[in-house]
Amino acid sequence: MTGQLFTAPVYSKEVYMDPIYNFQNKVALVVGASSGIGAATARAFAMSGASVMLADVNEEAVIQLVRELVSEGFTASGHACDVTDEAQVAAIVTRTVEIYGRLDFAYNNAGVQAPASDFADLSAEDYDRVTSINQRGVWACMKHELQQMRAQGYGAIVNCASVGGLVGNPELAPYNGTKHGVLGLTKGAALEYAARGIRINAVCPGTINTPMVSAMMETQKEAMDDIMIRQVINRLGEPEEVAAAVLWLCSPGASFVVGIGLPVDGGFTAN
Ligand code: NAP
Repeated sequence: MTGQLFTAPVYSKEVYMDPIYNFQNKVALVVGASSGIGAATARAFAMSGASVMLADVNEEAVIQLVRELVSEGFTASGHACDVTDEAQVAAIVTRTVEIYGRLDFAYNNAGVQAPASDFADLSAEDYDRVTSINQRGVWACMKHELQQMRAQGYGAIVNCASVGGLVGNPELAPYNGTKHGVLGLTKGAALEYAARGIRINAVCPGTINTPMVSAMMETQKEAMDDIMIRQVINRLGEPEEVAAAVLWLCSPGASFVVGIGLPVDGGFTAN
């Protein structure tokens, strides 16, 4: 079944990722920007005219991507940032504003998977790691982004949850817990800040063609087969398809959209 699912890619970047937004003079921060969905989103912001700050725990990879973007004529800077360290998160927001003068958009994308495990067997260390990156990391990013946006009186934040924040997956409950938590942080903060000119939403990607998923295809094959059967579009999503949703949520086109977790999931949650 899985073999058939992956033999029918119909996605074309040329057809689907047509950057129609005008984000000239806007500033976007992408945290977890060196790979997968984060890298695609940083590139999409740049293609739409925004100045982009890319932050990632993998400094070498983030600097390499910034070099590529700048060599293509885009405005981008990069910095190391481990979201488990609140001081580093605060510093990345400060640096963004020092360089570009403001913060219009933030996409909090950094996340990891926990090892697939019977619930009763996962170690506290593995639980703490996934929680500190996926949930506390998003909290830290939102906190410091909101300090800047609150002072400005405008901004849009998009957090990366997952379909695993809407439903559960056997053997992945700790990851599910963090992504449900991201949606809780999103909704609570969205209510607090909507009337102050700041919109906060989340995306809930299905199974997307990124290094994280390649690793899971190898190490958690049975769980991935179950997930793919429910992704009724019959292919993996592409990082650019999630990036397109993030940009829309930041755009004036989503000016009345507050506190949602938008599934970008090829039909997974309709099933
Ligand atoms: P990815 O390619 O592994 O990208 C995640 C990025 O976050 C990597 O650049 C990673 O750096 C970075 N990161 C990890 N720990 C960090 C930390 N402590 N501080 C700062 N950055 C850190 O994975 P992806 O598939 O694009 O996932 C991106 C987001 O989408 C995650 O939140 C994930 O949970 C979510 N998501 C993905 C899927 C999917 O199917 N791919 C589905 C639903 C939700 P390193 O490479 O150095 O670790």
